[in-house]
Amino acid sequence: MERYPPWKWPTVMRIFAAKHLDETVRSKSTSGGVFVALCEYVLGLGGVVYGARFDQAMRVVHDRAVSMDECARFSGSKYVQSDMGSCYRLVREDMQAGRRVLFSGTPCQVAGLRSFLELSRTVGNLLTVDLVCHGVPSPMIWAAHVGFIQAAERSSLLDYRFRDKSAGWHRSRHVAVMDRGAISNHRVDAFREVFNFNYALRPSCHVCPFARLDRVADITLGDYWGVGQHFPDFDDNRGVSLVILHSEDGSAAFDAIRDHFSLIELSVEQCLQQPLQAPTPPSPQRAAFWRAYRQGGYEAAIRRFTSYGLIRRIARGLRRAIREFMS
Ligand SMILES: Cc1cc2nc3c(=O)[nH]c(=O)nc-3n(C[C@H](O)[C@H](O)[C@H](O)COP(=O)(O)OP(=O)(O)OC[C@H]3O[C@@H](n4cnc5c(N)ncnc54)[C@H](O)[C@@H]3O)c2cc1C
Repeated sequence: MERYPPWKWPTVMRIFAAKHLDETVRSKSTSGGVFVALCEYVLGLGGVVYGARFDQAMRVVHDRAVSMDECARFSGSKYVQSDMGSCYRLVREDMQAGRRVLFSGTPCQVAGLRSFLELSRTVGNLLTVDLVCHGVPSPMIWAAHVGFIQAAERSSLLDYRFRDKSAGWHRSRHVAVMDRGAISNHRVDAFREVFNFNYALRPSCHVCPFARLDRVADITLGDYWGVGQHFPDFDDNRGVSLVILHSEDGSAAFDAIRDHFSLIELSVEQCLQQPLQAPTPPSPQRAAFWRAYRQGGYEAAIRRFTSYGLIRRIARGLRRAIREFMS
């Protein structure tokens, strides 16, 4: 674990494709389940973990965890900018109290934490994990999506899986867990398109200085999408993590958990994907999407810019045709 200061931009030391050997862990994780093993490692040393979870209002917030039960809420990517709340100060208090800390977040959140700790000259044991990051959608649009689904389904949203793998990792879909049960339909799926088509990422994501292989964190985690091309036999459609080790501390932590995984060591060329090379470009329709949202609200925007609108038109046409046929 790293002693602070000094600040440094770590380089890449080793890169792996990793699959957790416990299938239950992998099924609940976005990719190969590396994050869960890191939590177990740090908690086993008496440490604490910071990550992103949903709060009761389904906002995405950062929080502190001291048990695996609490860490379970961090599992699974939430494709929304998380609210850091007072977590930076809590990390500092934990470090000052001599606790080991695992902090996970987007690259900019890890860089923000490190700047905060450096400015306050905090010294302690910190392991940082960041993500290969496509960009984070606006919390305002996410809140609008939550309100839209709850109103349409006349039911409360209890949980949301942005990457449900029940139909396979390659065909993962959005699933909303309502108090009436889990659903995945064209309304829920609209947010997948809002995210994937880059309509509502934060403007800063499009000029992100961390969209590169070198990172501020000790370890970078991502989905290893190159597995099908480079190692098709390793791809069982249940999720493979990309693990990029940047520092001695990251390397030591990963060596301590590596027995939990099937692993392949990768070259830089085998791991590259777009967010490791350049920021995600905005959709050419980004401004029009926001205009539609401001003028007519969330449903008007997704009706115009996602397949939600097309599916509604087809359903309406079918209903009209059936009515005419029956009359
Ligand atoms: C907004 C976002 C964009 C991403 N874009 C890509 C991408 O383009 N390519 C790619 O390969 N991988 C991307 N990832 C990472 C990927 O989805 C997995 O999170 C990663 O592979 C780790 O998977 P895992 O199975 O080890 O653990 P998981 O259990 O899936 O990991 C969850 C981890 O992500 C953190 N996390 C979840 N949501 C957020 C959030 N909103 N803000 C900050 N931290 C969060 C949790 O604290 C925890 O550390 C993205 C993740 C996020 C959150």
